[in-house]
Amino acid sequence: MKALEVQHISKSFGEAFVLNDLNFSVKEGEFVSILGPSGSGKSTLFHLIGGLITPDGGNFLINGENVTNQKGKISYMPQSPSLFPWRTILKNVTLAAEIVGENKETEAIHMLERAGLKGYEHVYPHQLSGGMKQRVAFVRSLLSPQSIICLDEPFSALDEFTRLDMQTWLMDLWQEQQKAILFVTHNIDEAIFLSDRVIVLSSKPATVKKEFVIPFSRPRLPNLLLEEKFLS
Ligand code: ADP
Ligand code: MG
Repeated sequence: MKALEVQHISKSFGEAFVLNDLNFSVKEGEFVSILGPSGSGKSTLFHLIGGLITPDGGNFLINGENVTNQKGKISYMPQSPSLFPWRTILKNVTLAAEIVGENKETEAIHMLERAGLKGYEHVYPHQLSGGMKQRVAFVRSLLSPQSIICLDEPFSALDEFTRLDMQTWLMDLWQEQQKAILFVTHNIDEAIFLSDRVIVLSSKPATVKKEFVIPFSRPRLPNLLLEEKFLS
């Protein structure tokens, strides 16, 4: 079964064609990176999958079901963290679970600690740095119940040490949970390091230009014991 099918998706803004007959699919539990230069339509693709904007043509199928224009079918981490300023950090990350009547507070506290945010559970977003807010948004997307996680440049605001730590954590979670992950980045090394498959959007108009299947098994990430010291 395909987790996600992107079928003949097109989107233009006025005169500007951003996506033109885009087609690809993602298998259950697959980790796919979407690469492409700025303006090639990576974020637009996520806005479309998330039902935040309407495609000019084409369909999205999740587990075979047509979900085009439906909100809430994927777990989505936007490119800028967009936290709710009036909710505490803990209340921000548990919101999606709350909406479906689940209590994820214990898990959330554990995950915030793993993200280096222990002690920040009860403060508000304006009290955090950009990199911390990005990790809150990351934790929030990981706590959402959907089977597909779409991450839009999730580690762009992080220093190198923290980024490597978050990449390692994401790999561990992905191997445990077997959710499909779509990972937008403009960092080629990061894409190759993390993914089963890399899809490259061309600049204009953005059809899938090239699709790389990583021909070797994923390299083992280094042991991060040393880094623990940096982070604590
Ligand atoms: P990427 O994430 O790959 O950098 P985007 O998807 O953000 O690219 O943007 C792709 C193109 O679509 C850009 O040229 C951008 O200016 C345009 N665009 C995106 N959203 C809108 C919008 N809501 N209105 C008009 N143009 C938009
Ligand atoms: Mg973008």
